[in-house]
Amino acid sequence: MSNNNGNKVDSNGNHYCSWCGAWIGNHNTGETPDGEKSYFAIIKAKYCAECRPKAINQQTAVRLHNLRQRNKGKRKAEKQELENLRRENELLRQQILKLREEINDERI
Ligand SMILES: [Zn+2]
Repeated sequence: MSNNNGNKVDSNGNHYCSWCGAWIGNHNTGETPDGEKSYFAIIKAKYCAECRPKAINQQTAVRLHNLRQRNKGKRKAEKQELENLRRENELLRQQILKLREEINDERI
C-alpha cells in the first residue's frame, strides 16, 4: 500500500523504506528505529537511514543528467541559430555585391 507521496505505508500507520522495505516508523505512535519522531517527519520519510544517502546520490545523478541534457539541447539550438545567422549574412552580402554591380553598370 502507498500513500499519495509514493511512500509505502500500511493501514496501521507503519511506513517502510521505498527501496529496501525496512520499517522506518509508525505515524500513529511516533516510533521509529532512531527513537521517537513527529507525525510529519514519519509521513515525509521515504527511505531508511541506510538507503537515504544512496537515494540522495541517485537523485543528484538524475538531476545532473537532466541538467546536462537541457544544456545539450540549448547548445544545439544556439548552434542552429548561429548557422541561420551565417546564412542570412551571406545572402545579404551577396545582395549588396549585386546592388553595387548594378550601380556600377548604370554609371558606365
Ligand atoms: Zn532502505
